Order: sequence, then C-alpha cells, then structure tokens
Amino acid sequence: MAELTLRAVQKQFGGVEAVKAVDLDVDHGEFIVLVGPSGCGKSTLLRMIAGLEEITSGEIKLDGHSLNQVAPRDRDMAMVFQDYALYPHMTVAENLGFALKMRALSPEQIDAKVSEVAKMLELDALLERKPRALSGGQRQRVALGRALIRDPKVFLFDEPLSNLDAKLRVGMRMEIRKLQNALGTTSIYVTHDQIEAMTMADRIVVLKLGEVQQIGTPGDIYQRPVNSFVGTFIGSPPMSLVPATLRRDGDAFLLDFGKDQTIRLPVSRNESIERAGVEHVDVGMRAEHLSIADGAKGSDEFESDVVLVEEHGADSIAVVTLGRREVMARIRPGAADTGDKGMRFRIDSEAIHLFHPDTGVRLV
Ligand code: ATP
Repeated sequence: MAELTLRAVQKQFGGVEAVKAVDLDVDHGEFIVLVGPSGCGKSTLLRMIAGLEEITSGEIKLDGHSLNQVAPRDRDMAMVFQDYALYPHMTVAENLGFALKMRALSPEQIDAKVSEVAKMLELDALLERKPRALSGGQRQRVALGRALIRDPKVFLFDEPLSNLDAKLRVGMRMEIRKLQNALGTTSIYVTHDQIEAMTMADRIVVLKLGEVQQIGTPGDIYQRPVNSFVGTFIGSPPMSLVPATLRRDGDAFLLDFGKDQTIRLPVSRNESIERAGVEHVDVGMRAEHLSIADGAKGSDEFESDVVLVEEHGADSIAVVTLGRREVMARIRPGAADTGDKGMRFRIDSEAIHLFHPDTGVRLV
C-alpha cells in the first residue's frame, strides 16, 4: 500500500492555478523527485505535503489517514531547505538536538542521538561551532542532520543542494541517496536540476505549469518521454528536435528534413505512423542516436559539415546541421574536428522519437 497518496491536489493563488489536480502514490521507502522549470509548482506541491501551504482542493493521506486538517508539526515529516534554516545563535550540537529538546528528551538521550547523527554525517569535529563558522557544505550537512535526528516518516527536500558548488553537489547527492537507502525513509525531493532528478530518483515526477507531464523511473522517462517537453527537459546534452515531413515510399516511410537530407524509417514503425496520421513531425534525437557513419552508405544517413566539437573527456559532442536545425551527436574523442566538411552521420532510426508538431505528444 502506498504510504503517501495525493488525490487531485490543487492550489489556486488568486487567478493563478499553481498546481493542477495532482495524483501521486508514493510507496514506503521510495525516493520521489519533483522536477520542472522555475514556476512549475514543485515547491508549492512540496509545501502542501508539508502543510506549510493550504491545499485549495483534493486530499493528501499518510498511511491512509487524511492530512488535510493536520498541522505541519504533527505530520511526522522533516523538511530540508535550500537556505539550511539553521539557528545562527546555536552551536551545531544545539541545532541538531533542538527538535529532541522540544520533545522533552533527557540531556543524555539528546547527547547520544546527536553524536550518532554527527558521526553519520561526519560532523563530530564541528559540534561546538556556530553556523557562521561553517562552509556551505557543512551547513547543509547540519540541516540534513536536523531532519535525520527526528527520525520522521517522510523527508521533504526543497532544492537542498542549490547553494553548493558543482563538485560538492555531486558528492552530497550521492551522500543523501546513501543515507536514504540505509534509513529507508520515504522521501520527496524538489529540484529544477534534471541531472539530480535522473541520478537520485526511484521515480521522477515531471511538472510544467502546475501540471504533471509524466511519472516514471529515470529510465522510463529518458527512453519513453510522453512529449517533447519531457524529452528535451530530461537528458544531457538535451534532446535535439528537428522538424521533418513524413512521406510514404514503397513499403516504408521517409523522413525528409529538407536540404537533401532524407532517411528511411524501419517498416516496424509504419503502424504507429499511420495511426498518428500526420504529415509533419518534430523528430526527437538524443546525442547517442547519432553517430559517425562508416562502410557502405545506408538509408539512415545524412551528410553535414561539423559546426563544432566539444570535448568531454570520455566522449565528445559534435554539433552538425540537420534540416533547419543544429543537432548533437555523441562521438568518440578525436573522431571528428570542428570544421570537417561533408561527414556522414547515421541516425538510429529505431530509437528516435516522432512528436506531434503542435501538441508535442509523442506519436512514435
Ligand atoms: P522555483 O523553482 O522558481 O521555485 P517552482 O516550480 O517551485 O519554482 P512555485 O514556487 O511552486 O514554483 O510556484 C508556482 C506558481 O505559483 C508560480 O507561478 C508562482 O508565481 C506562483 N506562486 C507561488 N507562491 C505564490 C504566492 N504565495 N502567491 C501567489 N502566487 C504564488
């Protein structure tokens, strides 16, 4: 049974519908990431789960009990904020132990819990310091520790790593996932960073303008985006979108990008193309769907000059021209150089996506 359930949860701020009828079932111990661009409603949704924001309509339940009328402090949830929200006049130890003091635990019990959590987060040496004498990463560890020590049913994270530099963020996201795995605490994590979503989530909820676009595992969302918004939002480098025309040619369909760049689609895709019944599409291609062609010329290739090669170490990204757009191809380092003329590129015609040009819905 789902531990946390949201049914048609909606939020209206005056004329703005910030969150539109969200349904979500979160299993016990699951790590759910809410992701989307600025203003998509992810923080509002998290704050409604926390009880910090009243819901306009719908219902939120924890273990089958409605939370709608339950005060934030009685929800058995602990929230970690972007700005850490530490008490500046208290030491690390006092910050960590504060919630337990409020629960009237004895000083001995508090000390024991504080040392346990400090050890887990490698804060032992910093217990007597005040927050101002800590680095950003250390402050965020204390904020995490304050959530852990309460041993809540649910952790809520509101962009907790946004104020850290890139390297620290990578380290901390692994640490949070390891801790969460060890504790098995159900977690809802908000971020605008799709890499954080992909790397941390058991399941991702992609939001746009207050509306859920797709809920799925990182693999699902990456491989089978429901629309071009999800396709281009998730993944790095982003999926390239290129307008093209579909044309029947014998037993298969051709994708015509214009400028003499045409590829033949596999017959296996005929049925879904016929069902979609459209002539114009946006073709969604990930960098790994494009490669440098070698050997005899195939029907899934096009020619282009190389606009730019970006070295990434283990691989490189080549920017090439397809129809009216530039697209990115993942290639071996050294396989092409900026300025190369008339190179042949192969499109993985089984893997690329075709989206409706107006609605963005994935057709094939
Ligand atoms: P960000 O990543 O920028 O924090 P977000 O996805 O978390 O964005 P929310 O902060 O949840 O988005 O906001 C969703 C929408 O609701 C936005 O259009 C925002 O302007 C609006 N909104 C949020 N809080 C309020 C409020 N208190 N009063 C009016 N409108 C609000």
